[in-house]
Amino acid sequence: MHSCGLLTIMLLADAVEMFSWQPKTFPSKGKGRYSYSSTLLRRNEQDINFFKGVSQFLYQGDIAMTAEQVRQRGRRAVTRDRRAKWSLPLPYYFDSNFPPQGRERVLEAMRYWSEKTCVTFREDRRQRGNVRIFQGSGCWSYVGRQYRLFSQPLSLDVSCTHHLFVVAHELAHALGLYHEHARSDRDRYISIDYSNTNANLTFAFNKEDSSTTDNLGTSYEYGSVMHYALDQFARDASRPVIYAKDRKYERSMGNRMRATFQDILQMNLLYNCNGW
Ligand SMILES: [Zn+2]
Repeated sequence: MHSCGLLTIMLLADAVEMFSWQPKTFPSKGKGRYSYSSTLLRRNEQDINFFKGVSQFLYQGDIAMTAEQVRQRGRRAVTRDRRAKWSLPLPYYFDSNFPPQGRERVLEAMRYWSEKTCVTFREDRRQRGNVRIFQGSGCWSYVGRQYRLFSQPLSLDVSCTHHLFVVAHELAHALGLYHEHARSDRDRYISIDYSNTNANLTFAFNKEDSSTTDNLGTSYEYGSVMHYALDQFARDASRPVIYAKDRKYERSMGNRMRATFQDILQMNLLYNCNGW
């Protein structure tokens, strides 16, 4: 599964398809090449959270952490922590405040992961260790199962449910996936211009530690649905914050149109969907 020719072909196909994908905000009518607008366009969970003013309270802009994880400076193992994986199907329920149209979108995102991987979901509010999907402020989730919590929240406000792959992104966090641009090996693929990051959000570009997170043997994916956009949290939106070392991939970053082959591979590896 890791190194066959088929994988290479599919990755190439992925790359070709990603080239044809253009974020709706590019090219910009704004001041600079990378500007996505003087008025912030809410194209992903990070923009929505920034607009709502909750980014600075969340790890990497959309990840909730327990007090214990905060004490450990966010370096809690997730994919290396077996307890953070769910026994499938993942039990979840909708909070009574969650609107019906949002539920449809969440179920659509769940179906997406279930069709592409062996991950399944079951509505069950009584089981100890479940995900409570509610309408909070912004789009955020814990990463992986929080085994100490009877019910762990996943917030999706109305703006979040406008985007199928923002919902899929948050579900991927709940299942245990971290951000792609935060991978322990990311410095080989991207560089961060910290001089252009919003001063309150520098920590959003933290890198994970290879001792606590596991890249599952997969290669870096610029087009991952778990990757920030190149101008995420830019002070000056006319230039990037994230530079792709391979320039031809720079416009692939920030994709929220669909999960890529690599995203699906990571989920399959995380849940040992061998032969699925
Ligand atoms: Zn995220």
